[in-house]
Amino acid sequence: MNLRCPKCQSDMEKVSTAHGVVDRCTQCHGLWFDLMEHEEMRADAALVDIGSEKIGREHNTLGRIRCPVCANTTLIRMVDPQQPHIWFESCPVCYGRYFDAGEYRDLAQHTLMDVFRRWRAPARD
Ligand SMILES: [Zn+2]
Ligand SMILES: [Zn+2]
Repeated sequence: MNLRCPKCQSDMEKVSTAHGVVDRCTQCHGLWFDLMEHEEMRADAALVDIGSEKIGREHNTLGRIRCPVCANTTLIRMVDPQQPHIWFESCPVCYGRYFDAGEYRDLAQHTLMDVFRRWRAPARD
């Protein structure tokens, strides 16, 4: 069964990679991750997050939206602690997360850069 995009109400389609499966909106290209899938699929961010950042930014400010899985649960807006410019929505019941188009790419890119910076940092003892 296809989920319905909580932001624009269009159909979402399953997109699978070597690391997992994500639901992506066929119109606005927002992404819905089930519990922890967003952690496992970061290496695939460029493959799955193909949407327009402009549309993502417009959708980012939409108000209360419902969980596409739990239907009557309102998603909670959260901020990534390392990257406070990234707002995403999380379900308090199923722990799924919704990222607007472009946000997941942004998140994953910063994560990779952080890893790189740590790796480059001189060893301390
Ligand atoms: Zn949508
Ligand atoms: Zn839910």
